[in-house]
Amino acid sequence: MSKLVHCGRLFDGLIPDLLEGQEILVEDGVITAVGRNLSRPPGVEVVDLSGLTLTPGLIDAHIHTDIFRWEHLGGLLAASPNWVTLGHLHTAQRTLERGFTTIRAMGLLDPGFGIVDVKRAIDAGYFTGSRMVVACHMLGSEGSHADYSQFFVANPQRAEQIQMPNIGTGPDHFRRAVRREFKYGGDFIKFFMSGGFATPNDGPEEQQLSREEVAAIIDTAHALGRQATAHVYAPPEINLLLDHGIDGLEHAAMIDEPTARRVEQAGVYLVPTFSPYDEIIDFDEENMRKKPPEFAQKLRDYAQRLAAGRRVIAQSNIRLGFGSDLVAVHQAYESWYEYGCWLRAGIDPFRALTAATSVNADILALPRVGSVAPGQFADLAGWHRDILTDPDALSECDFVMKAGRSYPTNFTLT
Ligand SMILES: [Zn+2]
Repeated sequence: MSKLVHCGRLFDGLIPDLLEGQEILVEDGVITAVGRNLSRPPGVEVVDLSGLTLTPGLIDAHIHTDIFRWEHLGGLLAASPNWVTLGHLHTAQRTLERGFTTIRAMGLLDPGFGIVDVKRAIDAGYFTGSRMVVACHMLGSEGSHADYSQFFVANPQRAEQIQMPNIGTGPDHFRRAVRREFKYGGDFIKFFMSGGFATPNDGPEEQQLSREEVAAIIDTAHALGRQATAHVYAPPEINLLLDHGIDGLEHAAMIDEPTARRVEQAGVYLVPTFSPYDEIIDFDEENMRKKPPEFAQKLRDYAQRLAAGRRVIAQSNIRLGFGSDLVAVHQAYESWYEYGCWLRAGIDPFRALTAATSVNADILALPRVGSVAPGQFADLAGWHRDILTDPDALSECDFVMKAGRSYPTNFTLT
């Protein structure tokens, strides 16, 4: 079954331009031609999107899928494994409806491997949803940002009962944890180098893993031919990760100029996830009140450094990926919100759009998504708002196609 998509304007994921009057020929889920006035095979279905701007299906490279609603995040600690697995599916369906045809999902509170089942069920066509690249769990040390038993520290007996195989101490523990992630179907490793904002009893400047533990994680992932990326905020910990050959950085929200230069030279990618800190930088009292009190307080304490770090990132030549990391104020699947943060940070819209398409495809090691060209999977999204000037343009998706099949869109904002 062939389809001819007639575009109003087209961003192809590679060239920083909006091309007029382009047509995309799709056969058996794959793009076979792109250009003006393409010859029409017999029986081709013409999809007239002349009123829309087309982009490749977008990619969110940092998303926590196990949450149904961020307001209920705390309840996830007490939920059944089945409920948590359904959360992964719910989010993957909602992201597809919003034009994000691929997501790099990181486990959050799920102690099991339901995220792999959801990925496989979507790939097999049993359920609709975004393509998924997954890290099953976040590896980290005891008491770290990854150790969610710290929400029960007022009751140590209860906290000690919580089984989190991704939490531990020592290089041997982490070698085993990395192997276990891949054994059960994880695609890459995500670990916590430093503390964070959303947990009550640690901070973003804590070094939460030793050099030996970091080396064990990265070297084991590399020996198995996979990538490791790390949650990190400040220069000392970013530099330690670079020393050990890290592939990617998440957040790096307090990076300074010298460290940014080193990240550029190393060719390491950075997914800055501006969304979780947006309320403090582009100050929004109402949204600040929605965050848990300890989260909001830590943001206030670090407001200046977060703002400075964002400027360094925006003005750098670091290879930036696009990821939303929404766990409060917006739902996990509202990836569009991150785009406005990039534009408000003064980043060129084409840099943001390229990050969310071809750069992210490279980060996810999925060479057949993220661009509109012959041989690529026919993953497309269509937008009626002006994507170059409107920071909220991606909040309203009008058309989505994944592997040649169109899906209903939904841009209800909550
Ligand atoms: Zn995250």
